[in-house]
Amino acid sequence: MARQEFQSLRGMADLIGQPAGQMSNLISQFRAVAEAAGYGRIETPLLEDTGLFVRSVGADTDAVAKELYTFTDRSDHSVSLRPEFTAGIVRAYIEHGLSSWPQPVKLYTDGALFRYDRPQGGRQRQFNQVNVEAFGEAAPSMDAQVITLVQRFFKRIRLNNVSLQLNSLGDPACRPRYRKALVDYLKEHEKQLAEIDRERLAKNPLRVLDSKEAATRAVLSEAPQTLNYLCEDCQKHFAGVLEYLDDLGLAYELNPLLVRGLDYYTRTVFEFYGEREGAQSALGGGGRYDLLVELLGGQPTPAVGFALGLERILLELAADGALPAAVVPKRVYVASLGEPARLAAFRLIEQLLDGGVAATGAVDRDGIGAQLERANRQGVDYAVIIGQKEVREDTVILRDMTSGAQEVLPANAIVAELRTRFGVT
Ligand code: AMP
Repeated sequence: MARQEFQSLRGMADLIGQPAGQMSNLISQFRAVAEAAGYGRIETPLLEDTGLFVRSVGADTDAVAKELYTFTDRSDHSVSLRPEFTAGIVRAYIEHGLSSWPQPVKLYTDGALFRYDRPQGGRQRQFNQVNVEAFGEAAPSMDAQVITLVQRFFKRIRLNNVSLQLNSLGDPACRPRYRKALVDYLKEHEKQLAEIDRERLAKNPLRVLDSKEAATRAVLSEAPQTLNYLCEDCQKHFAGVLEYLDDLGLAYELNPLLVRGLDYYTRTVFEFYGEREGAQSALGGGGRYDLLVELLGGQPTPAVGFALGLERILLELAADGALPAAVVPKRVYVASLGEPARLAAFRLIEQLLDGGVAATGAVDRDGIGAQLERANRQGVDYAVIIGQKEVREDTVILRDMTSGAQEVLPANAIVAELRTRFGVT
């Protein structure tokens, strides 16, 4: 066979049938959890001004420096596909004056994101996340509540054994002191650092903490830790978050190297890990970003949020054997025999669908055997058969596809009968 000319781009997947169903099921479960906790829906565009991501996510982060899908549009504007949700949502919060709403303003979203990364299992160039942001609440209870929201979602989708790691990155009062200690330490060990991390050290030293390079990780094991440099307010805040989690008996680990891949975080950061091995085991994470709204031109507004990667969660569920079998609703197949039955069958499919009964059928095909075979392959629960005799007598044959039992019903009773059998209310 000739090679197909067009194929999906590297790192971009088609989801067809069951995987597509699993993805949309995860999203609806998440929506239910977020809405119950008082989050309202927001949808922002896939494309934004490139400057928005450079300013917020940070020019030296991988997500912007290496992975941004950027192009110049027909008016010579540099635009980029969103690599994450927070920047766009903060822009919208400012643009639409959401600071005048009763605070906190709690928003959730889901959808596709784009990063020009090296594709591998659990890492794609187009991937999906669910995401929440809570604006206008500085108290540690808000941090704890976004964390428990994630836990509730995992529980609802029956994803067990997810571990939670936490750290605090401090704020402008204490971060400079930590940064200096880190730079001093890393400079002392500069020769042992991986090449790329020597560059990061010069440009954006906190990014070194995020390094995946083995040589750098070895140096980092002895590096100064943010938690030892927190100012009193940041210490109190972090202790407050832990108090709520402890009170609920939620397990977590403190990870002094956790900085997350984006520049805008302050104070609390957290990440969730599944049980699968390797770098792709992070299911998602988030944290506080109390300076970002102001950085993008809004009023100073504390905020905290998180994002979870849905492809990773599906892999984790599959590894766990916890992917629920798709719930297939009861369905009927309408089979017709001969020209006089054609219109009756077409009409009946429409009446069934209007009546809330899931129905398919091919009215233009001949051969009742072939039609029933197709019904069987589709796994429907019933077939309705209409032949010339049935048209004449204004009846239909209802066939139970599991037992093979058949009965004759008046044509005008079949919709109500199937509604009852399928429990359509
Ligand atoms: P981040 O926005 O980088 O903190 O990512 C949050 C979560 O999104 C990660 O923990 C992953 O689960 C998921 N994620 C990030 N990048 C990718 C990617 N390239 N492919 C698939 N999932 C991703």
